[in-house]
Amino acid sequence: MIIIMHVDADLCGGSIVVSGHRPGAEAELSLRADSAAGIRQWFHFRVRGALDARLELSIVDAGQAMHADAFRGYRALGSYDLERWFRVPTDFDGRRLVLRHRPDHDTVHYSYFAAYPLDRLSALLAVVDRSPRARVLSIGASVEGRPIHLVVLGEDGPGKRRLWIAGRQHPGETMGSWFVEGALARLLAEDDPVTDALLGEAVVYVLPNLNPDGSTRGNFRTNAAGRDLNREWHAPSRDGSPEILAARGVMEQAGVDLFLDVHGDEHADVAFAIGCEGNPGFSERLHDLERRFARSLARREGGFSSELDYGSDDPGKGDLRIGNNWVGERFDCLSMTIEMPFKEGPSGFGPDRASQLGRSSLEAVLESLGVLR
Ligand SMILES: [Zn+2]
Repeated sequence: MIIIMHVDADLCGGSIVVSGHRPGAEAELSLRADSAAGIRQWFHFRVRGALDARLELSIVDAGQAMHADAFRGYRALGSYDLERWFRVPTDFDGRRLVLRHRPDHDTVHYSYFAAYPLDRLSALLAVVDRSPRARVLSIGASVEGRPIHLVVLGEDGPGKRRLWIAGRQHPGETMGSWFVEGALARLLAEDDPVTDALLGEAVVYVLPNLNPDGSTRGNFRTNAAGRDLNREWHAPSRDGSPEILAARGVMEQAGVDLFLDVHGDEHADVAFAIGCEGNPGFSERLHDLERRFARSLARREGGFSSELDYGSDDPGKGDLRIGNNWVGERFDCLSMTIEMPFKEGPSGFGPDRASQLGRSSLEAVLESLGVLR
């Protein structure tokens, strides 16, 4: 039997540099920086010829990652089919991140969090588009010309609320896509009382991937122009952040009564939400809405904490470059960033939990619907 182990990152969202294959089942790897920015954290790669090998995969420069400390207490994700994911034994000594695994198949993938390739989104959008209650639109194009998709669910009409969900501004935060997938599946479900009630009173707008270039290139944080899109909302530009220009444009057209911007957090071990407490226009009304929403979601999901946030911004000092702050200020509405953990934490967080959070977030939205305005 021939034994040839090989590592590559020739995948949608793939990212790793192979420094060397050593004899046996060991490989020395390093993190690849974002395509136009010097940020390292995300990895997603494939090993072939791995069956029954005792793999030892060392990412030798993990100590220089953007959030290197967050690799403590972290275990990488593995998958044979990019569908079902599991955690693998992972050690971090402050310098090297070492994955040790004995695969059951010749081909195995490893990722910082469960990868979500764009062809999976395309397949999902094809299903969405067949539903009589949904439309799939392209509202603009990324720096490299990839479409920015918008899914519209439900019929507009007098008095209807406009609810928005966005994911993947930060392309390495793939849990955002799993969350969106869970939410969309529920919004398409027949005979779901939550969906029926929501679409009876609201139109739901979903921006499933605001950073398709970064998602394709395997960037962690930035788009093809090297911009952190979640710092572009106050003044998006055609050259640097057309993705946000498109999102803002369609929000201005439709209006916004609620915005959930879905992200991942490297250090946390539970999901949590961040509000708009630093915005100049922040009010007691918005504070009540934020608390109500976070408590409602925490009651439904053990892995979601209503307590954790980044510490309140000082009044009036909120960063309006950030999506949820800008939208909250512009539309005077409930507007939150949902952060989900890369770490598994006590809830065993992974892509299934992210999808579940997407589904149950709709219940929390429904509970807030009557008091949004
Ligand atoms: Zn983020």
